[in-house]
Amino acid sequence: MKLNELTAHELHEKLVGKEVSATEITKTVYERIDAVEGKVNSYVTLTREQAIAQANEIDHRIKNGETVTPLMGIPIAIKDNMCTDGVKTTCSSKMLADFVSPYNATVMNKLNTAGTVMIGKTNLDEFAMGGSTETSYFGTTHNPWDLERVPGGSSGGSAAAIAADEAIISLGSDTGGSIRQPASFCGIVGLKPTYGRVSRYGLVAFASSLDQIGPITKDVTDAALVMNAISGHDAMDSTSANVDVPDFTKALIPDVKGMKIGVPKEYLGEGVDQEVADNIQQSIKQFEAMGAKCEEISLPNTEYAVSVYYIIAPAEASSNLARFDGVRYTYRAEDANDLMELYCKSRSQGFGPEVKRRIMIGTYALSSGYYDAYYKKAQQVRTLIKQDFEKAFETYDVILSPTSPSAAFKIGEKASDPLSMYLSDICTIPVNLAGIPSISIPGGYNAAGMPIGIQLMGKAFDENTILRAAYAFEQNIKDTLKRAPLKG
Ligand code: GLN
Repeated sequence: MKLNELTAHELHEKLVGKEVSATEITKTVYERIDAVEGKVNSYVTLTREQAIAQANEIDHRIKNGETVTPLMGIPIAIKDNMCTDGVKTTCSSKMLADFVSPYNATVMNKLNTAGTVMIGKTNLDEFAMGGSTETSYFGTTHNPWDLERVPGGSSGGSAAAIAADEAIISLGSDTGGSIRQPASFCGIVGLKPTYGRVSRYGLVAFASSLDQIGPITKDVTDAALVMNAISGHDAMDSTSANVDVPDFTKALIPDVKGMKIGVPKEYLGEGVDQEVADNIQQSIKQFEAMGAKCEEISLPNTEYAVSVYYIIAPAEASSNLARFDGVRYTYRAEDANDLMELYCKSRSQGFGPEVKRRIMIGTYALSSGYYDAYYKKAQQVRTLIKQDFEKAFETYDVILSPTSPSAAFKIGEKASDPLSMYLSDICTIPVNLAGIPSISIPGGYNAAGMPIGIQLMGKAFDENTILRAAYAFEQNIKDTLKRAPLKG
């Protein structure tokens, strides 16, 4: 296998054994990018020179006898809504098309300390609003398993880059499913940590009470390694949690004997593809064969999750996006006669249709007279959804469901029907509303050969239990896992 096809932990062994250099690894990744990026469009910005310089420096340090830590010299792709000092951060929006961040997000500082090599910034739905990466100002990203299909979203660029071997590891952000759903559509691993586990400082805010940064990787071990690097309390983010950070790799034990797994019936109802439902039944059998105990459970308030999310997320977005006024940041309309016109024209021209739709919904839901009827009510139901999970976790260690009701759909299939796009997040949204951690891993393939993901949800701050279940499952089906067929 070529270097760019390996995982971070495999490359780490080669670096420790001095079989390869960080520079060689980085160059191989760019060779692959040069061969396939024209078809996939994973990246908005490539940071080639900076990456080669970073890799050279790592090689120098290794040569000087420095201990090679797990992510040292490993190429990483960063979703383009995280601030990167001196490098463009566009959020795939015309509004920020030329915006160069003057500082690093906390996760970037942590990754630099860990010694990763940033390859570039990846494509997303504009301001992370979407589930297909079709709303990007920089064009759609294509799924490496079938270029006519979406890679999922909003972190579609990060997921496609990993599935196409255009990076070794990546970061995404997840407000309602944007790490897990693209990971599932691209046949890889995506972990949304507990709310507060990873600092949001420097993540361009979409819906602040839901947003969370997490890893998108080729396997569960790499997800644990990235979690080790990016987790922890940060004084710069008042919502980051001051809790102990475990060594996530300690969870990588291929043993689920005695583990109690709940399977909520609400996640397998109407609207779920038969092949996806069948895959869950097969996964249940696999977990049981490994010694876990699976039982059907009920999370009765699930049916309200999408409605609640589409009040709370747009409400917070309308407030967060108010800062893009044509005065600060980048896009500014040229022909405005006064300040109000400057605001209106800059925002009308700078934002795309999905972002405008969300700002309008959110502004309406927060307006006086409607606030109690919509926003307050949504917050109350959000508490009920959270309580459903708390109750289930009194009995069960892990909750298993599909990640998405279907495998990757065709480009354009849902683009003009926002409601059907919104409904494709039905399995991931409740997790963000409850603030709990959840991982998507490959579960199998449908008849068309497209990957199907399974989702494992856990108690708040108990990423280790879902990592253990995910790792055990992955080890069990390892020989059946496939790679995206994309040729250079
Ligand atoms: N698809 C969902 C939305 O459009 C989730 C997006 C996300 O998690 N960033 O809001």
